[in-house]
Formats: sequence, structure tokens, C-alpha cells
Amino acid sequence: MATQSTTPHDADWRRAFLAREARIRALPEIDQDLVRLGQLPHLGRWLEQVRATGGCAAPIYLSGHTTTFDTATGGVLRHYSTEDEPGGRLAVRCRNRRATRCGPCSREYVGDTFQLVRAGLTGGKGIPETVRDHPRLFVTLTAPSFGPVHRAGTCHSVSRTACEHGSPRGCGQQHGDSDDCIGQPLCPHCYDYTGHVLWNAAAPSLWKAFRDNLYHHLAARAGVGRTAVRGLLRISAAKVAEYQKRGAVHFHAVIRLDGPTGPDSAPPAWATAVLLADAVRTAAAAIALAPPDSAAIGDIRLRFGSQLDIHELSSGDGGRITDEAVAAYVAKYTSKSVESAGAVDRRLTSLAEIRALRVTEHARALIATAWHLGGLPELEHLRLRAWAHMLGYRGHCLTKTRAYSTTYGQLRADRAEHARALAGSHDLFTDWDDGTVTDAVWRFVGQGHSPAEKLIATGIAEDLAASRDIAAELARDRHDGPFRR
Ligand SMILES: [Zn+2]
Ligand SMILES: [Zn+2]
Ligand SMILES: [Zn+2]
Repeated sequence: MATQSTTPHDADWRRAFLAREARIRALPEIDQDLVRLGQLPHLGRWLEQVRATGGCAAPIYLSGHTTTFDTATGGVLRHYSTEDEPGGRLAVRCRNRRATRCGPCSREYVGDTFQLVRAGLTGGKGIPETVRDHPRLFVTLTAPSFGPVHRAGTCHSVSRTACEHGSPRGCGQQHGDSDDCIGQPLCPHCYDYTGHVLWNAAAPSLWKAFRDNLYHHLAARAGVGRTAVRGLLRISAAKVAEYQKRGAVHFHAVIRLDGPTGPDSAPPAWATAVLLADAVRTAAAAIALAPPDSAAIGDIRLRFGSQLDIHELSSGDGGRITDEAVAAYVAKYTSKSVESAGAVDRRLTSLAEIRALRVTEHARALIATAWHLGGLPELEHLRLRAWAHMLGYRGHCLTKTRAYSTTYGQLRADRAEHARALAGSHDLFTDWDDGTVTDAVWRFVGQGHSPAEKLIATGIAEDLAASRDIAAELARDRHDGPFRR
């Protein structure tokens, strides 16, 4: 974490501040707050802090100091304290990945995800470029059907028959991509809400079973044992979870075969992309997990859906799908969450709250089912009440195997290093190099903006966003992404 080193005159900042103030003066309720802000003795420094957080929507305020000593002489090399900062505190980013919570931090997260996924495909960030020549696939694993739902394009063909609840079994319409009915069941009473919620809850286990199974299926193809195959190759992967409109989780995954020591070694010659694709197909199809033992659950098996998309990523220029497009496609999902399925972005505390939510009846039924199942003692371990707002899914948005690529932490450290090199500014939390020791004491003193601060931070975030490279990189993939679904 570095503070901004540029110190433009306070007068410049004040002019910029007044220009912004003029833009927003139409809002009387924040007038007083603006006046207060305008009278801050260190307004320029405060604006600098906001810029340093990228205009974060909910910055965390810290108070404290950091002092770096020379270990040999004991002399103080650097000292920084928030004593001289506005309000005696320093703002740092909230680092929330959700666009609904913080636009600037989610954009940074998307950018980091892009770098992380791309490094695993093309090398860089400590990964050798030879990974390009390893077998690499882009795979989408889906959930099965829990009952027919309206779908974009040609919906279910019109039917003269009705279900036992009197709902027509077909639809016959053409739905546009943004029609509200997409993902809503043809008959909510026929829809398997229990199966759907349990599937979301089991999705992380299904992914783990898939990875283990993939080793087994590769071993079978190589004619070696299940333990021996891990001495021949490694499966490296990064996957992201996406909520479909119907509220089921999908996984988009980059899967790469490495040699026994990881990205720096080539897999055996027999382990081709075609063989890997075959193994992915059979490994995914073979998974059938038993559900938890409960009278509320019928005789079901938890499986992946039959729709399985596999794209080979070729190393040559002739590849239909570029590595960049895949990285951008995966990255864009990390700023989204369950709200794309029409659910809510916060934990719920009661059935009354669930009844009052402004969501679709389908989302409410999924949330209420999770709440109900979460109250059963035998399903307590699934923590379905805590994750009801996520429709039962409690996994991470993005996971990767250790060897796939670099980490978010490393990307942030690199960025801090870069900022420090540019600005010669302080690092609050880590030692610079050997031969020094840093004494740092930090205390949380608050979070978030006042109304006027929020407006100014938003303006700064907009200015920064306009000049971001990543926007251009992601623009290519603004619509459906590089893959037809
Ligand atoms: Zn933030
Ligand atoms: Zn329809
Ligand atoms: Zn029905």
C-alpha cells in the first residue's frame, strides 16, 4: 500500500474541488457536508488519499505509524505517521470484488483476475512462456435441469397439454436476451427447488470430485496407476463460478496439463489436448455424488448437466479463441455475483425478510428453500441459512490450483512495488529489503464516506475509470463473450 507522492498545490486541488462542487450543488441535502469538506485544512491531501484508493466507494480508515530502521546502525531510515494526515487517518481500499459494493475495487479485481488467468495461459508473472505449448482447454461445466425454464431465443415449443398444476408445458415464444421471463420456470410447482439448492450447495464438492476424477481418467488412458499418474503430469486449473439466470451455478475453467514439476515441465507426449478433452468428458459424466441423508431429499444423485462445452486453446495464431479473450471472459465474472440471477447481495436473517424481498418469485422460492433446508439438523453442515442469499452456493468466485499461475497477493505486491518505484513513497506494511526492519502499528478507525465525500470519490473513480487500459481489453468481450452457449 503506497501513498501518493505527487503534491500539487492545495490551490489546484481546491479549484478541482470547487468545479465538482458546482456540478453537484443541485443536491441540497449534502450542501452542509460539502461546506464542511471545503473547509478542511488539508483538503488537497484528503483528495490525494481518495485518488490513491482509486475512488474506493467504502474506504477503510487506519490510524498508526510505520518506522523503518537500518538493522546495522539502528538509525531511522523512514518514518510515516497518520498524525499529520487529515483527521489523523489514512484511507485504504476496501478491496471488495463485487461491482455492486465498490466499482473501483471490483474493476481492480477484474484487472488482476485477467492478469492471473492470462499468465496461466501465455506465461508471464513468473510462469514460463512454454505453458503455451501445453495442452490447454477452456471448459464449461453446467448444472442439470431442475425443470423447464423460459430461455432466450426460441423457447420451449408450444404444447396443448398442461401439467397437473394447470400450467402449459410449452411456451412457443421468441424471447429477447433481456426478457424478464428468462430463467423463470414454466411451472414453479413442478420445479425441483430442493434439488436445485442442493446442487448449488454441492457444486464445490462436484468440482473437487471432477479434478480427482480427471487424474483417474488420465491414468486409465495412460495405462498407469492412480498414484503413478501424478508422477507423470499435473493438472493446473483456474475456474470461476457464474450464476445463470435460473439461479444455478456454472463453472468456467481453464485446464492445463503440466509435467510432474508444474508449469516449468512439459507433460508426456501422449498427454495431448484431444486426450485431455476425452478425459474431461468421461470424468465429468462419471460423477454422481450421494446427497446428504435426509427425509427432505428424494432419491437423487448430484451430477453435472449433460451440456458440457470444451474448447481447445491452440498455441498457434490459427486458434479460433484467443488466450486474451478467455482471460477477459473469466475475469468479467469475478465482479458479478448472485444478483445476475435476480437474488440479493447480502445475508438474510429471517423468513419475514425473505418474504419482503423485492426479487422474482423464482429467486424467492430458491432462497426460501435454502432457508427451510438450512433449518434441518441433518443439513446443518451445509450452512444453507447463511448462504440462502447465494441460493445455497458457498464456494469462492474464483479458485485455482497452486501451480496454475501467480496469486492476487503477488499481483498487489507487484503493483505496490511499481507505485513505490514511481513515487518513492511509503510501504505501510512490509520491509523494503534486507538490512532493514520495520515497526508498524495500525488500528482500524472507521469505514465509508459521508454523502459529500461519496460524490467526490465517485467523480474521481469515474475519471480514473475513463483512462483505464483494462476497459479497452474487456471491450472486445462486451457482449456474449467468445463462445456461443
Ligand atoms: Zn473499494
Ligand atoms: Zn418462454
Ligand atoms: Zn406444474
